[in-house]
Amino acid sequence: MSKSAIVQWLDEQAPLFYGVARQIWERPELAYTESFAASLQMKVLQEAGFAVRPQVGGVATAFVAEYSVGDGGSGGSGGGPKIGVLGEFDALPGLSQQAGNAERCAVVPGGPGHGCGHNLLGTAGVAAVMALKERMAAEGLPGTIRYYGCPAEEVLAGKTFMAREGVFHDLDCAVSWHPGYMNSTINDRNAALTSVEFHFRGKTAHAGGSPHLGRSALDAVELMNVGANYMREHVVDGSRIQYVITNGGMAPNIVPDEASVWYFLRGFDRDHVDGLYAWLLKIAQGAALMTETQVSWQLRAGCYDTLPNAAMGDLMLAQAEVAGPLLYSEEDYHLAQELVATLDAGSRNGARRRLADLGANPDDVLAEGFFRGPFGNRNGGSTDLADISWIVPVGQVGIACAPVGVANHTWQATASYGSPLGMKGMLHAAKIMALSGYDLLHNQDGIIENAKDEFTRLRNGKTYVCALPADVQPPASVPVTVPAG
Ligand SMILES: [Zn+2]
Repeated sequence: MSKSAIVQWLDEQAPLFYGVARQIWERPELAYTESFAASLQMKVLQEAGFAVRPQVGGVATAFVAEYSVGDGGSGGSGGGPKIGVLGEFDALPGLSQQAGNAERCAVVPGGPGHGCGHNLLGTAGVAAVMALKERMAAEGLPGTIRYYGCPAEEVLAGKTFMAREGVFHDLDCAVSWHPGYMNSTINDRNAALTSVEFHFRGKTAHAGGSPHLGRSALDAVELMNVGANYMREHVVDGSRIQYVITNGGMAPNIVPDEASVWYFLRGFDRDHVDGLYAWLLKIAQGAALMTETQVSWQLRAGCYDTLPNAAMGDLMLAQAEVAGPLLYSEEDYHLAQELVATLDAGSRNGARRRLADLGANPDDVLAEGFFRGPFGNRNGGSTDLADISWIVPVGQVGIACAPVGVANHTWQATASYGSPLGMKGMLHAAKIMALSGYDLLHNQDGIIENAKDEFTRLRNGKTYVCALPADVQPPASVPVTVPAG
């Protein structure tokens, strides 16, 4: 049976993928600087026979790896379905933590860490396409599979730059996953977002001796924030307006000639956020006018709300049984219990409630069931995966790689995602994505048409227009090239 061959191949190759995920975990890299993670994945995929294209979408660390069967083996994209697997691999600042250690203990104090498990996320995608390639080659199964190496998810922009270049547009559908503390399909509707930083320029002066000669850029930032806080009352429910002052001047006795503030605007969909953004620009200009300063701004990200796809979710859910049980060792349970003991009651109880809502037994230290995630649930967080979900139908699962209650973006998550507990979840995710890809390549029960019908219905006549104009470029960093073969 071909599907059991996929599971078996992944079990046999587990040490290779555990090694890749662990190496990426040990070298955590922040958004746009993931050159080690990108090179390592590119090398593994190239050695496995994939054609690798680096620096996609103008992002130094973005790449696409492709394998095709069909079209007489011409090397180009073959006939049959085109299936994408989306991977991420950036880390988070300040979340350095020793693997498998339930006491707060950074590897590098203040350093970055994989507290969102993207070391597992990307590696599972690499494993899934490699397992699929084995079956395609063995069966002469026509189609194209692509692994998308998507950097800079934590700043919500990597996939948007890649999408702007059109690299997802010819896919039939795509699958992805995210590490978490339970096994479920992810059918949430994440918030759309605009990330923008405003820079004000004024004039320095001696703040004590000749303040009348200065024009304070910090005053402009403060007045802008006051304006935004008054805007809050008149926006529709579900809007989110968040800011941090990224530059507030150097010293109180110098009138600051430069000051900056970074905003996140979130809402139900792109139109909602575009409306907030248009208003915020007026507030920024008003603040500049009031303070006789100049303002400029820099768009950092603009992503969509996520379009869930039940057909794709159910396809992935159906693979859970074929993938076999997710088995943990005594040591895994021991670590889980120790980590859970470090959580406050709010985190623990919130997670238990969520599991109980899904019909699971919250007393299990790790969630072993596989649940259908509630469809269209509004989720205040954002992801650049949402852009892809407006281009092609996307299926997503969450897989338990951490104990119940350990939330992403915490040191406990970093500890879990570098340990065998996380690795096992990653292999399970790879199996589910590869098995789903296999059914998609066969277009089992017309799954591709079903997913596309639902996708078209939910888009409701709207099409994807990238929210980042052509002149918005990703930050420059060292380009990663394909390793010499
Ligand atoms: Zn993440």
